[in-house]
Amino acid sequence: MTEGSTEGARSVPLRTDFSLLIAGSLVQSAQHLDVINPALGTVFARCPAAGRGELDRAVAAARGAFPAWRARSFAERSALVKRLSQRLRERQNELAELLTREQGKPLAQSVAEIDRGAAQSDGMVGIEIPVEVIADDADKHIELRYRPLGVVGIITPWNAPVNLALGPLVSALYTGNTVVLKPSPYTPLATLKVGELLNEIFPPGVVNVLAGGDELGAAMTAHAGIDKISFTGSVATGKKVLVSAAATLKRVTLELGGNDPAIVLGDVDAKAVAKKIFFASFVNSGQVCMAIKRIYAHESVYEDLCAALVDEARKAKVGNGLDPTTELGPVQNKMQYDKVVGLIEDTKKTGAKFLAGGEVPPGPGYFLPPTLVTDIADDSRLVQEEQFGPIVPILKFSDVDDAVRRANDTRFGLSGSVWTKDVKRGTEIAAQLEVGTAWVNQHRTTSAFVPFGGAKESGMGRQYSALGLKSYMEPEVVSVAKR
Ligand code: NAD
Repeated sequence: MTEGSTEGARSVPLRTDFSLLIAGSLVQSAQHLDVINPALGTVFARCPAAGRGELDRAVAAARGAFPAWRARSFAERSALVKRLSQRLRERQNELAELLTREQGKPLAQSVAEIDRGAAQSDGMVGIEIPVEVIADDADKHIELRYRPLGVVGIITPWNAPVNLALGPLVSALYTGNTVVLKPSPYTPLATLKVGELLNEIFPPGVVNVLAGGDELGAAMTAHAGIDKISFTGSVATGKKVLVSAAATLKRVTLELGGNDPAIVLGDVDAKAVAKKIFFASFVNSGQVCMAIKRIYAHESVYEDLCAALVDEARKAKVGNGLDPTTELGPVQNKMQYDKVVGLIEDTKKTGAKFLAGGEVPPGPGYFLPPTLVTDIADDSRLVQEEQFGPIVPILKFSDVDDAVRRANDTRFGLSGSVWTKDVKRGTEIAAQLEVGTAWVNQHRTTSAFVPFGGAKESGMGRQYSALGLKSYMEPEVVSVAKR
């Protein structure tokens, strides 16, 4: 394992070439945010931060732009979204480098995040939302239409800021809404740069991008000029969003945290499966809502799977994401780093066995090695909580019904997976998981055409697919008496 930074030794000038996007203008503000490179633990950029005044102006601009934007056809809106994805691809390398500097993930994964966001955007605007005829006879005609809601407030987290903005952003715009978008204060920069591209393409006021702290998010959820909040973040904040949105009865989509189980049956090829499970657990250093966060292995494959996973952990290169050989970057911020370090310490106290990792290297940077833990109780914090970092427990089972019961014994319900050579049995077991998405022999596969979202406390509503798009619209029945 290596850590540190290729840039650590030299000082780099502070980047300040960032603006908010309000009413078609790129603007500065009285307040600012300092942004830390997590591979170095030092501030490398400063951007403007919006206060109440900027929020009010952005909401007014979005409201003002709404009538003309909703009047455009799906085809016109789709064409502008496609121009956006084209511009994202053209600027991919530059955006990816910025994303790696602020978020920490390896450069190839930043490129993949932007690429995936562009592909999903293109996919979404290929979905049609037709008028649905419910009844049509001699007496009556009843149809179900969908119309845009108005202004959508989009609030995003720091683990995949570009991709998690593009999903709701394109859903909202394509369906005829206007937008106020707020990235996490930990990772505002790539989103602000995407704002510059949006400004080249969309009419003034249709999209507004405001960097800002948690209080700006709270103000958005309470704002009477915003009709829907699409929120991606933690369960705790999601609950606050729902409470705040209740005052104005805003529509809400909540994409929240997860504690995804992977159930590995005894018939698998341990080595082959370990490679995939390791990646699905540790990609982005475990900071993925739908990362595998608990591995349940059948006793007949348990030892082999543990050994194969340890092998993967030892091979994985941890380091600065700008180094092309890096596979796992740092934890994104100090708050999350302290949380994961606390979890490692708590897990040590339980007497659990550390098969790999577990040591906390000295700084600079928020680096932690991929850590695998066994012999740990089901009621331990590591098994119960969302770790959102590079530490994963491996738990043994002998009876698959018991594994399903333990996998479901949580308030989380984002996703989960079953791994077996018997696809039919795997599918039956997957269907018993209380989650939004249950995969068989894969984990983390999503698409613009497949609804994604959480069961239980992992969320409310779905993104993507016609189901997701319709959540940015109000269903309206038109019922006609023919005589
Ligand atoms: P967070 O909840 O702390 O913050 C998310 C966003 O909400 C930030 O922009 C923040 O400024 C804003 N915010 C904070 N307080 C607010 C309030 N009171 N009202 C409105 N907005 C407020 O989450 P995070 O730590 O940035 O992200 C990590 C979490 O996100 C994890 O739990 C992860 O699983 C989850 N996540 C879920 C999905 C999904 O699709 N289900 C995807 C990615 C991440």
